[in-house]
Amino acid sequence: MFLSISTTQYPATNLGYLLHKHPDKVQTYSTAGGKAHVFFPEATDERCTAVLVLDIDPVELVRSLKVPGESRSLQHYVNDRPYVASSFTSSAISNVYSSALNGRCTEKEEWLEMNLPLEVKIPALKVRGGQGLLERIFLPLGYTIQAERLPLDEQFPEWGESNYFALTLLHQLPLQTLLQHLYVLLPAFDAERHYYVSSGDIEVLLKKGDVWLKDHPERDFIVRKYLNNNAILAKMAIGKLIPEEELEVEEAPINLGVEEEPSVNLHQQRLNAALEVLKASGAKTVLDLGCGEGRLLKMLLREGQFTRIIGVDVSFFSLQVATRRLYLKDMTPKQKERIELLQSALTYRDRRLAGFDAAALIEVIEHLDLERLPALERAVFEFARPGTVVITTPNREYNATYAMPEDKMRHRDHRFEWTRQEFANWAAQVSEKFGYTTSIEGIGEEDPKLGSASQMAVFKRNAD
Ligand code: SAH
Repeated sequence: MFLSISTTQYPATNLGYLLHKHPDKVQTYSTAGGKAHVFFPEATDERCTAVLVLDIDPVELVRSLKVPGESRSLQHYVNDRPYVASSFTSSAISNVYSSALNGRCTEKEEWLEMNLPLEVKIPALKVRGGQGLLERIFLPLGYTIQAERLPLDEQFPEWGESNYFALTLLHQLPLQTLLQHLYVLLPAFDAERHYYVSSGDIEVLLKKGDVWLKDHPERDFIVRKYLNNNAILAKMAIGKLIPEEELEVEEAPINLGVEEEPSVNLHQQRLNAALEVLKASGAKTVLDLGCGEGRLLKMLLREGQFTRIIGVDVSFFSLQVATRRLYLKDMTPKQKERIELLQSALTYRDRRLAGFDAAALIEVIEHLDLERLPALERAVFEFARPGTVVITTPNREYNATYAMPEDKMRHRDHRFEWTRQEFANWAAQVSEKFGYTTSIEGIGEEDPKLGSASQMAVFKRNAD
């Protein structure tokens, strides 16, 4: 099996840095099924190509691998595995190009996120579904495809065409994204799998497909194929992929303020509103206080404006989930410098939180007992004292539209829910006491009498 990746981005030899491979050397690695060799047939500043050759030993394969019973063709000494791109290719990509696949490159960090002109050649990919399937999979991701169906046997053209394609893919995208696409999609074309697919593969799939798989029109097909047509695993994976709001309510209802809210979008609207305020404030350093599972943090990370981002939560469990969701462990040292998660209670002074430009408390205050609220006020407005503070909380009046008993709250962990007047009074009193100026606005759907579903106060620190 052969997979080449070329770029013409100047100086193209940087491809060697990105792949962590020296263009002057042939390097060999042990990988599932055999050996993988990497070399660079061309390496100039104008154009550089890295070739991965997978040298699979079909005899050894049958002897040593636990080949799933249903993959009959793999049980024969003569099979197509040595030649076609398959799940072995994915394993080789993750073994041999693991740093690039995980977006790590200390020498040429500025190239990590760059949209590079990339060309991939795969001389043999088995595609049951023909050119149409290739197009349905690769075109939505922005690739230009050149696909040539290979004859069954060159010597005997009358035998007709095979299911194998010689494929060239062209695109401008970060190398990591390209490798993620190949990693997930190559085995999706291939009915055979050299390993038992298990629930652990869901995690791998979600990680590799994090950004692009959710909205892919062939998402369900890709997920099912990647998980070797295992319907139960595929259902679990799709449930995890979409939509995030529903997932979070299911996973950790205690930590979210959206249990009774019929509109799963409301929470996203709050996060969007807060993000806009933070961006408009010009803040560079920002605190997400009561960050929960890191949904706002994820959005903040995408904005280059924020150079230092701290998520704070009292719940160790939530921080663990956030660590996973933000892939903190896979970040480069430089990316890691930008973000930090701290376990801390917002009712105590914490010196680590002082000196930031802005802070957000999204659906947090209502989780505190009312008598603890003054302690939070001091910790945030007196000690941490950011220039801008954004606070959202439900509007209790709006609960009437949810057909819930009047004495009930939207979430079982809420200690109080305020009317618009109560929130405005509190915000005014806090502003007065700590030297801030407040503006308040509604978030979400608005009822003419009851107001909006949620409410947001923006506090600006007064000039000294
Ligand atoms: N802001 C997040 C989570 C909201 S849920 C989001 O919008 O998705 C409320 C969060 O506040 C929970 O994660 C909870 O653990 C945290 N929290 C509640 N009381 C806290 C306290 N005293 N100190 C720090 N975090 C607290």
